[in-house]
Amino acid sequence: MSEMISLEEARALILSKVAALPSEKVPLLDVSGRVCVEALVSDIDVSPFAHSAMDGFALHAQDLAAASEENPVVLEVISEIAAGECCELPVAFGQCVRIMTGAPVPEALDAVVKYEIVETVEGDGKAGSKVAFTAPTKTGDNIREAGEEAKAGEVIVEAGDVISNAGIGFLAGCGVLEVSTYARPRVAIVSIGSELVDASQKPSGGKIRNSNSYALAACVQAAGGIPVMQPIVDDSLEALSSVIKNAARDFDFVITSGGASNGDYDFVKPVVARLGELLMTSVNIRPGKAQTFGLVDGVPVFGLPGNPAAAYVGFEMIIRPALRKMQGYIHFERPTLKAKLSRDMKKKDPRRIFLRATLCKNEQGEYMVAPAKNQSSGLFGVIQRSNAMAVLPEGIGEYTAGTLVECILLDVAEEVGI
Ligand code: AMP
Ligand code: MG
Repeated sequence: MSEMISLEEARALILSKVAALPSEKVPLLDVSGRVCVEALVSDIDVSPFAHSAMDGFALHAQDLAAASEENPVVLEVISEIAAGECCELPVAFGQCVRIMTGAPVPEALDAVVKYEIVETVEGDGKAGSKVAFTAPTKTGDNIREAGEEAKAGEVIVEAGDVISNAGIGFLAGCGVLEVSTYARPRVAIVSIGSELVDASQKPSGGKIRNSNSYALAACVQAAGGIPVMQPIVDDSLEALSSVIKNAARDFDFVITSGGASNGDYDFVKPVVARLGELLMTSVNIRPGKAQTFGLVDGVPVFGLPGNPAAAYVGFEMIIRPALRKMQGYIHFERPTLKAKLSRDMKKKDPRRIFLRATLCKNEQGEYMVAPAKNQSSGLFGVIQRSNAMAVLPEGIGEYTAGTLVECILLDVAEEVGI
């Protein structure tokens, strides 16, 4: 089990070992950004009635057939309809109704002409006034038909669709206030290392703050999961063994960081092998070659490297797709685009390299990518100041400035599909 596999193999492996979690019914607002388990239907026509798209006058289009600047057509205003009201009066030819945006258009009328092009020739433009029209209008003008957005009983969202923020409004309008979605995975986050102290403390004497747990919790949350940070675990086989055993019992997914390589105090691999099935130990990427994956009592356990950037890349490239699959998503690639390298680069490591980088457009409108100077795997701050990862594929070589390289946009949702 020391075989190094490609990123694609690693991802395929982990995806093959996870499935969508059971569904749960959640209040409408909680389904934003989540996957709909079953098709949803509207309980009414939306909108329920034909209504005006403008403030203006509702009329018979036929009345204005001969209207022109020279020969304006004058109609009698017989009523006013505000939004939320109905007009029960019959409207004869030669008559019109003053109407507000969103108000129901009386059934007999077939067009609305906006205020701005109507002249009041007698009165104040309200009921009892006379108004003049200087141009014809077409049937249907400025009227939004009933059921334009959705018909009663019609499927409005398919199973598998991701609900957007606007979709929340769409569903509210259709009377859907509860939605079945896949449960969020509960994820245990275990940072391993006898040098770690909680971030609330000032470290001394060879200790450092545990920053990985926080970053990983944020990443889990952004991936839709529910992170639960566990207490720091010392570099001890027994301690780690009991923490992982318990975490696999209590959670849907376990993520560790640190202790994943082959040092004297790296116990993730032996612990996973002892408690369950060790399926992967190393992936052909940089940063973050030491990526451990296995199952303990059927629960995925993923051992990330301790180095912050290596842990981050492992999470982004391998764990995030798995957490998304558990929530029913089917897209696993962050959007990418090709950009020109801002400087020459020598690639001496044959692994696929993910360079922390800043992507921007130059004055010619071309995408340029500037890899951060310090690519140490120990740094989070560089990622904080980056907006992309530039990917240099497997193999060694020289990249001259201007070479097009693929860039993965950080923190942009997979569903965008660009
Ligand atoms: P390891 O993978 O345990 O060999 O750790 C590699 C490097 O990452 C070491 O310098 C560790 O001190 C550091 N490291 C490990 N875990 C964390 C953590 N939770 N937060 C910050 N740095 C860490
Ligand atoms: Mg360590």
